[in-house]
Amino acid sequence: MRTVYLCIGCAATYLPPESMTYPSHPDVTASPAHCGNPTCAAATREAVAMSGLTEEKLGELARRAAGLEGDARLPRVNRRRARGSRAAAAPSGGRSKLR
Ligand SMILES: [Zn+2]
Repeated sequence: MRTVYLCIGCAATYLPPESMTYPSHPDVTASPAHCGNPTCAAATREAVAMSGLTEEKLGELARRAAGLEGDARLPRVNRRRARGSRAAAAPSGGRSKLR
């Protein structure tokens, strides 16, 4: 499966060639963290400088956060309990009458 990339500058998704190079533009390589917009390239350079992480790592974290790669960290769904049903069992560390 191809990797869909997420620009950390403008949040656009993009699909560069797998080689990350363009035959028509030999001097251009696709970045794993930003799209072709120069503003996004500048924002990414700044993010790399501030975080100390590589472009590859930043791109990976962005893809993961957006759910494009690995397990997305979804917020816990606050499901409403059906009327009349019991509350969820207390975690094992919860209080009991025996202690
Ligand atoms: Zn962008």
